[in-house]
Amino acid sequence: MDFNLSEEQIIFKDSVRNLAERHLKENNLKRAHDPNFPKDVARLFAKNGLMGIPIPENDGGQGGKLMDAVIAIEQVALVCPRSADVIQSGSFGPLRTFAEYASSFQKEKYLTKLLNGEIVIALGMTEPNAGSAVTDLTTKATPDGDGFRVSGSKIFTSNSPDADIFLVYVRYGEGINGIGSVLMDRSMAGFSLGKPSKYTNGEEWCALYFDNVYIPKENILLGPGGFKKQIAGFNAERIGNTARSLAVGEFAYNLAREHALTREQFGRPICEFQGIQWKFADMKIQIDAGRLLLYRAAINADKGFPSSKETSIAKAFCNKAGFDICNEAMQVMGGMGYSQESLVEYCFRKSRGWQIAGGSMEMMKNRIAEDVFERRFSQRPPKI
Ligand SMILES: Cc1cc2nc3c(=O)[nH]c(=O)nc-3n(C[C@H](O)[C@H](O)[C@H](O)COP(=O)(O)OP(=O)(O)OC[C@H]3O[C@@H](n4cnc5c(N)ncnc54)[C@H](O)[C@@H]3O)c2cc1C
Repeated sequence: MDFNLSEEQIIFKDSVRNLAERHLKENNLKRAHDPNFPKDVARLFAKNGLMGIPIPENDGGQGGKLMDAVIAIEQVALVCPRSADVIQSGSFGPLRTFAEYASSFQKEKYLTKLLNGEIVIALGMTEPNAGSAVTDLTTKATPDGDGFRVSGSKIFTSNSPDADIFLVYVRYGEGINGIGSVLMDRSMAGFSLGKPSKYTNGEEWCALYFDNVYIPKENILLGPGGFKKQIAGFNAERIGNTARSLAVGEFAYNLAREHALTREQFGRPICEFQGIQWKFADMKIQIDAGRLLLYRAAINADKGFPSSKETSIAKAFCNKAGFDICNEAMQVMGGMGYSQESLVEYCFRKSRGWQIAGGSMEMMKNRIAEDVFERRFSQRPPKI
């Protein structure tokens, strides 16, 4: 067993870091406080082969592995935490699921533009009454001629104020097997967005409203029975979420380390206090342990989607570790850590969200428990 990156991976890692240092470091604070999706960063990444990292070359991607995308998202996050969302969007998020299942027509229509950073895709999965219980979704697709009419609504769609197309989970019929997904253009008649709301991390999301939106058959991504495939794709999204949790934690840790080396109180650098040293020891243990779990899930996925078991373990651990590290880094930096002059408070707010998004930590633990006991535990009330 080899715990080191290969020579090729080290070269890739250094090149991404270099690009991030040259182009993204300078405005990292400003970018973190901008609620809009950084489209300029998407174009920069497109020019430098950092969009569609695990997507096959004949589809316009880079033909890499999930692990390459993890390396990229980490290296970007360690320089500019907000820009790591663009690697998420280009290699892990709905784009990844879309690229896996899209027809040639759909790829031709949308994929090139997505990979060039010209347009943005968002995921409409969560509904007001279907959060963790996502299979309770009620957004309905009713047959109409060759296509479908979609009615319903979604909430918490990240990047929705800036997105051009939406991968929308819909219900064609009853039960889990009735679920699939469609691609909705922002301009489609009957599709509207609500007023932007803000997450704690400062990003905006809008409610999506579908009033009898006509979806031509060309825009159906997955028909009835597509739910399992969608969730398999969503496990890749979870890896991006896991990687960013840990990386923004490490970003905060690095800032706090520098602070502890230079900030003096009582006539000595604060890193000389044992109370501070032990915080760093604990943070470092979490970073290293989290990285092993993250890399295991990513490497075992090779070119496909990661297993839900390894993804759940990595996500549950790194979501907590990332947030705890940001919290401790803030403590080490005192008032400056709590202030918006420092990116530590941004990382703290940002990492908090991933404990909820993408399948909450509790839902990840439910999945892990099923593996532990080798049986399924229904979360629904018993039928009488
Ligand atoms: C930053 C952020 C970005 C997001 N981006 C998107 C996006 O792009 N697209 C999208 O569709 N959605 C998105 N979401 C929504 C996200 O997927 C949901 O918030 C999440 O699935 C939880 O659903 P909920 O908020 O309705 O909470 P609920 O499901 O109502 O859960 C409330 C609490 O109860 C717990 N809980 C629920 N069921 C169980 C159970 N069986 N066992 C133990 N505990 C349980 C949960 O863990 C949680 O703590 C985003 C959310 C956030 C915070």
